[in-house]
Amino acid sequence: MNESAAGQESLPLVMGVDIGGTQLRAAVLQGAHLLSRASVLTGANPLPDSTIPRIFAVMQQALDEAQVTMNAIKGIGVATPGPLDNRTGIIYSPPNLPAWQQVPLRDIFQQHYQAYQLPIYIENDANTAALGEYLFGAGRGCKDMVYLTVSTGIGGGVILDGKLLEGASGTAGELGHMSIDWKGGRCPCGSRGCLEYYASGTAIARIANEAMVAGQGAELLAFVDTMQEHPTTIPDRAALPAEQDIHTQPLIELDDLTGMVGHPRVNARTVARAAEAGIPLAREIITQAGEALGAGLVNIIHIFNPERIILGGGVTMMGDMLMEPALRIISERAMKAPYKAASIRIAELGANAGLVGAGGLVYYYQSGYKPW
Ligand SMILES: [Zn+2]
Repeated sequence: MNESAAGQESLPLVMGVDIGGTQLRAAVLQGAHLLSRASVLTGANPLPDSTIPRIFAVMQQALDEAQVTMNAIKGIGVATPGPLDNRTGIIYSPPNLPAWQQVPLRDIFQQHYQAYQLPIYIENDANTAALGEYLFGAGRGCKDMVYLTVSTGIGGGVILDGKLLEGASGTAGELGHMSIDWKGGRCPCGSRGCLEYYASGTAIARIANEAMVAGQGAELLAFVDTMQEHPTTIPDRAALPAEQDIHTQPLIELDDLTGMVGHPRVNARTVARAAEAGIPLAREIITQAGEALGAGLVNIIHIFNPERIILGGGVTMMGDMLMEPALRIISERAMKAPYKAASIRIAELGANAGLVGAGGLVYYYQSGYKPW
């Protein structure tokens, strides 16, 4: 239990809902404390009409497990993949939920829970995770904070002067799509040379597979075939399938970072394992991903002058082999004053960040709650 847990017992109960491409989850929360948690698999090709009733069922299950009714709940916060408009609560066909075209999710929730007159908030999953860390995790106690999650993709959330940065159309904080090489490779977002294109789990898998195609991968492939015989300190979350939710959980499993580009067994996790075992090609790939991450962090430091940068996501679990090159680039390139002001920390909320952040929306918007 962290030090901010003291005092949370006076907070009202809220419902956090986390709509992911892999799992639909709901929890009854008091601050960062989960009174209950329920989940079902999202399933392939989830359509809104069939999925939304299942979300309501999971929410009811969370209530039942916490032995409360909706009457005890002060508000509902929902984390979903973006893009969405958090002011209208409309979802615009996220890559992870492609059939959800212009779904007025907040209105649908409001109608369903009409009898309770509850405030309902919808926010993208990177922003909710940022908010969760800000209120209850590694960001508590500071006013200027940037959250960066490095997993299959790279997402972010920015909190300036205690306020979540939203932007004119609610899409601010797409930190994975800052260009760090303006003539670089084409990113699906439309730009070139985005941070995500070089430092995400998908990027690591792509770069390794490009090396395979170029005929440099024999040693890496041989390692992959014998990988289970090698010791590792990289957490193996494959044993915890219930925790796997790559789309809504910033702290994800490296197993999910396959990207599935090229050789199916050459993915971010296997490259990390190979780098750990000293395979030169793999070390080089991880070092370069770390340097790219460092270049992105320099931009974040220069633009936002944050007091804290919180790093989440499975890729950051690679530890020193990724972070040392990142920190070296920062120390070489960042301006002195903002560099000194910024402390870089690892996210604290783990697999529950999405739910805690979703519930945190209610505290944030309803009461301006600050736990410190
Ligand atoms: Zn991009």
